[in-house]
Amino acid sequence: MDHLDGVSIDFDEDKCTCCGKCLKNVCIAESISLKDGKISINKDSCLLCGLCVNKCKQNALNLSYIDEAVDNVINRMYKLIKY
Ligand code: SF4
Ligand code: SF4
Repeated sequence: MDHLDGVSIDFDEDKCTCCGKCLKNVCIAESISLKDGKISINKDSCLLCGLCVNKCKQNALNLSYIDEAVDNVINRMYKLIKY
């Protein structure tokens, strides 16, 4: 599927305690799994919804944006509101 340019899901393995909270009925795209005792994110199927980010109290999951991506979204919204 197409993703928003400049937006990505990042996983910091060093911060992950393997608590499993992001595995339990969180990901609507089933992009999070446990492999060999470690959390694995399938970035190809991830919808960048951010639900898992809110679940992780260790800040091991984060959505990152580059400024250009934010500007593009704002510009698109501005055009929709303007017309
Ligand atoms: S919620 Fe965070 S700390 Fe827990 S398993 Fe998922 S990524 Fe790791
Ligand atoms: S951002 Fe959404 S779709 Fe992507 S891994 Fe997290 S919960 Fe799943």
